[in-house]
Amino acid sequence: MSIQSLSVSSLPHIRPQFLSYHVPSIGEEEIRSVVETLRSGWLTTGAKVKQFEQDFGAKVCAQHAVALNSCTAALHLALEAVGVKEGDEVIVPTMTFAATGEVVTYLGAKPILIDCRPDDLTLDVTQIEKLITPRTKAIIPVHFAGHPCEMIPLMELAKAYNLRVIEDAAHALPAWYQGVQVGSIGDITCFSFYATKTITTGEGGMATTQNETWADKMRMMSLHGISRNAWSRYSANGSWSYDICHAGHKYNLTDLAASLGIEQLKKCDQFQKTREQYAGLYNQGFKDLPEIIRPSVADNVQHAWHLYVMQLDVERLRIGRNEFIEILKNYNIGTSVHFIPLHLHPYYRQTFGYQPEDFPNARACFERIISLPIYPKMTEADIEYVIEVVREIIRTYRR
Ligand SMILES: *Cc1c(COP(=O)(O)O)cnc(C)c1O
Repeated sequence: MSIQSLSVSSLPHIRPQFLSYHVPSIGEEEIRSVVETLRSGWLTTGAKVKQFEQDFGAKVCAQHAVALNSCTAALHLALEAVGVKEGDEVIVPTMTFAATGEVVTYLGAKPILIDCRPDDLTLDVTQIEKLITPRTKAIIPVHFAGHPCEMIPLMELAKAYNLRVIEDAAHALPAWYQGVQVGSIGDITCFSFYATKTITTGEGGMATTQNETWADKMRMMSLHGISRNAWSRYSANGSWSYDICHAGHKYNLTDLAASLGIEQLKKCDQFQKTREQYAGLYNQGFKDLPEIIRPSVADNVQHAWHLYVMQLDVERLRIGRNEFIEILKNYNIGTSVHFIPLHLHPYYRQTFGYQPEDFPNARACFERIISLPIYPKMTEADIEYVIEVVREIIRTYRR
């Protein structure tokens, strides 16, 4: 079947304007804050970063927050801080973005992939134990789409085997698990402020922890392994002297980015409420369609709803996921797929010998998933339009 022939006829109209998969919510407050920083004469890591770290730590109930230029940097520094070394093994879900796996290789360690649960697509905690070897050093749970992983059994397992838990919370601001906020559960938690995430600084990230030693290590390694940062060297009461203590990295966040982050953080609960409301509208709109598997939400969690990942019951349809996406695009609706599981990519197959059938849940879910647009800049009418088009496609192509 050619893509051109895929259309649905009975819709009243195709919206004239493309509905982007994501648009960040940048208000006048953010613009004013960045301009103020531009005028201040201090652009890179300084007082704004310090304030952003304090605000962020308070927000997620973490004693220490280290601002960085990406979540990838945060994950790298976190693994380094807890002592992951060459030859170690780190358990990583296959259903994740490139960053979660690649950071393990930065340290010469080996990512050991694990399958997901078919319902909420977080890692299957029941499969962790059989992967643990004497080399296993850490686990990186990914709070997929903003749905927290099963952290109580995971933390118990980590404790029993003396493993560190580095959470990939790139999707999970703000999210709660059993009354505890993501950011204060594992050993170190890593957040992303990439342009499509729940709050943004353009590019940026944050590592949170209750452990002062790890926080100090990450802060030092984020700026060349130098004992004092620019702020304490170049501000009025600073000194020119410094010591290079380790071969570090260049991962610091700028004050320009932090001034954006400070304003975004104030709005993050409001943003979440809107996304949750929109997820509810989608759920309601698809409730009577057996062809659509709606995202499942565990009891006792607050979902960040960074993504709305629906699954198509492809056996009930005459078209696959890719065609479904093409039709949505023809109706001016942008979508995405989160994610192509790591084990299906050439790097993981060639380097570690993974085969497509190694992780049956992730492989099957990958054929079914579509991420629909969900962000506060959308209107309810936008959501209704997406629902209307999805319903019409299902009606046209159901078996
Ligand atoms: C976006 C993302 C990252 C990386 O975040 P950056 O800030 O772009 O480095 C890591 N993990 C997951 C699951 C992500 O979606």
